[in-house]
Amino acid sequence: MTVPTARLIVATTDPRAEARLRYAFSAYAALHGIRVVPDGPADVTVAHGDVAEPADVTLAAGYRPRPLPSPAPAPTWVDGMPCFHLAPDGRPDLLGEVVEWLAAPHESACTDLDDVGRVPPQHTLAGTHGLDRTVPWANRWLARVHAAVRTALPRLPAAPLSPFGAPRTFVASHDLDHLSGSRLTNARRVVKNVAIAFAHRRDVRTGVQISAAAAHRAARRAPIADDVRGVLAGEAARGIRATYTVVAESTHPRDPGYGLDEDYVRRTLRAVADDGHELAVHGSYRSLEQPGQLAHEFDLLAAAGFPATGGRQHWLRHRGAELYSALITAGARWDSTRGHPDDIGYRHGAAFPFLPYDFATERPLPLVEIPLVVMERALCSATPDPAAWPGTAVDVLRAAGEDGWGGVAVLWHDAAFTGTYYPVRLADAYWAMLDSGDHWVTADEVADAARARWETAGAFARTAAIR
Ligand SMILES: [Zn+2]
Repeated sequence: MTVPTARLIVATTDPRAEARLRYAFSAYAALHGIRVVPDGPADVTVAHGDVAEPADVTLAAGYRPRPLPSPAPAPTWVDGMPCFHLAPDGRPDLLGEVVEWLAAPHESACTDLDDVGRVPPQHTLAGTHGLDRTVPWANRWLARVHAAVRTALPRLPAAPLSPFGAPRTFVASHDLDHLSGSRLTNARRVVKNVAIAFAHRRDVRTGVQISAAAAHRAARRAPIADDVRGVLAGEAARGIRATYTVVAESTHPRDPGYGLDEDYVRRTLRAVADDGHELAVHGSYRSLEQPGQLAHEFDLLAAAGFPATGGRQHWLRHRGAELYSALITAGARWDSTRGHPDDIGYRHGAAFPFLPYDFATERPLPLVEIPLVVMERALCSATPDPAAWPGTAVDVLRAAGEDGWGGVAVLWHDAAFTGTYYPVRLADAYWAMLDSGDHWVTADEVADAARARWETAGAFARTAAIR
């Protein structure tokens, strides 16, 4: 089938609003593999608001940019959907709603950062307004755009076509937070984990499990604080390739403390690469505070023989757009930091990879965000029943249903497989999730596919001059 084409005509004369609405329309077209043409004939012409030209579909217009930083006011519920941008006739502005989720201007207004310096989950768009994070709201809005477009162009498939030709494709990733060959370092870490389980989480069962697992692994001469080899074996058995992120330089006590020059670290990373997995940068704790540090970490990993195309911040530590500028300076093509450590779900309401929006230039950034949807530890907060963990993870990954193809990530630390950190059944949950029938690829592969889709969808076409 030839690639269908679409054109968007907007009524607004506000160049900021126009740029953002075109961004949202690109998100729609990228999800569905549609080419956006700036002018001339198209298979379908979509109007946003009352335009002079004839159009096949007209979408309600109610989007009004807010000055930044300012929070999103409480939504109005219409047909079971939270609406931030209603048109005067009471209909939601579908593209405007997508802007609100993907560009997330709401978070810029947060003044109550957590003690790590992050926007906490309760201050995101979903958190502030009590919206269910396991619902991919942006997909739901884009499904309504698609329903409208299909009335004019019924030959379009009902569901978005995956660039991978599989019904659902996800990214499995592992942040290597503990890779020391030093027995003393590892023993100290495990003692700390026991203390955290008993004192902070009051989880006696896990405290006992950690002590027993450490003794058992030590007796077998297995590393007590990491289990990269075990994860590699399980993934090799399934023919699945994953993304492993590495802290290339530690400059803070909260960094792992291992060095790329250590023999154990080199051998482990070589084993990961030899198995065909992707190695990426796990930006160190202070990597965004010191100019050039994140780029330096990309350089260090490349110099060690492992060039990376993207990464995720250690502790998911970042405030906002400074993450993207540092990554772009480093030459990165993807990021997978946007999620939460203790809450499963969709921070941007997006169960698909997207280009972050830059309010300074009013255009999307040339970098693919692969939303982080499930970090293993968050399953413990989602449900206390370990037997429900795999199903919970699979359900949230597939929450877009027919309105998405995937392209989002899960994070399981290799340390979760040792039994010396978290409840050991989180490891079982990982394997059960992989065995649930979905397709798994690396972050780099998703970034490639998404970038091509967004490019075809006109994301990099310059719109009217922005003041
Ligand atoms: Zn980390």
